[in-house]
Amino acid sequence: MKKKEYDYLIVGAGLFGCVFAHEMTKRNKKCLVIDKREHLGGNVYCEEKEGINVHKYGAHIFHTNDKKIWDYVNQFATFNNYINSPLSLSKGKLYNLPFNMNTFYQLWGTKTPKEAKAIIEEQIRQYGTKSPKNLEEQALSLIGKDIYETFIKSYTEKQWGKKATELPAFIIKRLPVRYTYNNNYFNDAYQGIPIGGYNTIINGLLEGVETKANIDFFKDRIDLESLADKVVYTGKIDEFFEYKYGQLEYRSLRFENELHETENYQGNAVINYNDASYAFTRIIEHKHFEFGSQKKTIITKEYPENWDKGKEAYYPINNERNQQIFKKYKEESQKLKNVIFGGRLAEYRYYDMHQIIASSLTKVAEISKIG
Ligand code: UDP
Repeated sequence: MKKKEYDYLIVGAGLFGCVFAHEMTKRNKKCLVIDKREHLGGNVYCEEKEGINVHKYGAHIFHTNDKKIWDYVNQFATFNNYINSPLSLSKGKLYNLPFNMNTFYQLWGTKTPKEAKAIIEEQIRQYGTKSPKNLEEQALSLIGKDIYETFIKSYTEKQWGKKATELPAFIIKRLPVRYTYNNNYFNDAYQGIPIGGYNTIINGLLEGVETKANIDFFKDRIDLESLADKVVYTGKIDEFFEYKYGQLEYRSLRFENELHETENYQGNAVINYNDASYAFTRIIEHKHFEFGSQKKTIITKEYPENWDKGKEAYYPINNERNQQIFKKYKEESQKLKNVIFGGRLAEYRYYDMHQIIASSLTKVAEISKIG
């Protein structure tokens, strides 16, 4: 049989695909990366405007506890010392996040961990349950009623477009609670923003790799698949199988950018808007990710939206219905020996950047072992 032109056709130039392409190219495999967008980099892509790197698909803050992953990304970019310390605006008042001694002071006037713990424990005793079955029960059992109502309920219902009682509990496990005056959102040992923006990392990963933007895999599927021995697919798994077991649900986002003729609009990179009266969940001021001193500033309001086929799918909605459907697609995908599925959309998982990189590296290691 005639050897195909490429070893791997990689569909989707996000982090999973780019890391895969980089690693396989290093192993002398020939890769072609395609993406339907006009640029590469998936959702970490930054667009430069007024000298500011605008996170076009929402704020991306790199963090990891894994030294190997940290060293891996540091091959391609130097990271600054940005620490994510978002604020939350709730009923006209600003509070520090994540939930910590500053938040408790702002909420109740408590000054010691003992005082704050006493309030939280009492509220958990009153409103918590032993085995929380949904996000609301999980939140009440973890941090009590005041925090749930001030910071979580409305934000979460806006974000997911569903009642907190209809959402899976695990979403809220991402929010750390601590009894120190520490506003660092992440508990991880390593954190920062790549100097020069995320495109620096993408360009580094794709150096020496053949790439094509503006290519829609589904428009030319048969011809594209015939180019390579194997396909690495990072798009929506239900679309790959032509929705034969039904459509998975996703949450979409709409970003509204504003240019302001001022140096500093909100004094922080991220401010969350908890109240239902604001349709957006947060305002990002991009320059603060890189301590920018430009004369102007660009802010982005992030509006959660229902997803339909014409929109970008940002978050999988991992409730029971969708997990059941996903299971069928997953079983189907495991039967295909020449297709590798990876990334947030193909694995239908709420992955962070460091987790995607780790999963791509693991996949490469598995394949390399088999030979
Ligand atoms: N969340 C919340 N209030 C906040 C921030 C987050 O209730 O002020 C909840 C919300 O359900 C959200 C989840 O925590 O979906 C994770 O939020 P995070 O900002 O960590 O994730 P991202 O949307 O940036 O992936």
